[in-house]
Amino acid sequence: MKTIGLLGGMTWHSTLEYYRLINQGVQTKLGGSHSARCVLVSVEFDEFERLQAAGDWKRLTELMIEAARSVEKAGADFVVICANTMHKTADDVAASVRIPLIHIADAAAEAVKAQGLKTVGLLGTRYTMEQEFYRKRLEKKHDLRVLVPAEPDLTTIHTVIYEELARGVIREESRRAYLDIIRRLARSGAQGVILGCTEIPLLIRQDDCELPLFDTTALHAAAAVRAAIS
Ligand code: GLU
Repeated sequence: MKTIGLLGGMTWHSTLEYYRLINQGVQTKLGGSHSARCVLVSVEFDEFERLQAAGDWKRLTELMIEAARSVEKAGADFVVICANTMHKTADDVAASVRIPLIHIADAAAEAVKAQGLKTVGLLGTRYTMEQEFYRKRLEKKHDLRVLVPAEPDLTTIHTVIYEELARGVIREESRRAYLDIIRRLARSGAQGVILGCTEIPLLIRQDDCELPLFDTTALHAAAAVRAAIS
């Protein structure tokens, strides 16, 4: 079995989910008392949140490279960035280590395509929804059409992530707001919605909604499990 190198703490609430899903995935596939071999670097999210808000992606890239090199040195066979937003640094991270990186947007896109969908909504942080690093990958590499919420919905999605989900706060009112936004995306033509922030699955689940939802935490964890035991 290969060793999974997790870059986590972005936030720790979703890193816990990765850890659980990866170990459950390995145990389901191999049975008995099997569990995943992994190493984890968990960052201080307050520092990351401030640097993101200040637009200091240069410093964030340095910190991510440092973390990736640490897991490589600790024996990881590949790298998993346990967040969507920090995939903004994924190309630089991948170029700085010898081990491969499993990209979260590829894991999401493969699942969307497997269901035969072409147009998807994307929910995530403002950085993920507005900037090109994530959307372009879905569009150019995977030939998907990507819809993001209009304002003020975009700000609602972003604010709930940072002020609630990243702090472990789950509110019914926010769940309803997210589901309303998903309904509006569906009316605009979305055939499914990528939950492109690893904390969003803590708030909404497939049972809450008829439109297919793509949980990037679960899909990315499953991709890591496949890579680890292939
Ligand atoms: N975990 C989040 C994501 O998937 C947001 C927190 C962060 O900014 O890294 O994008």
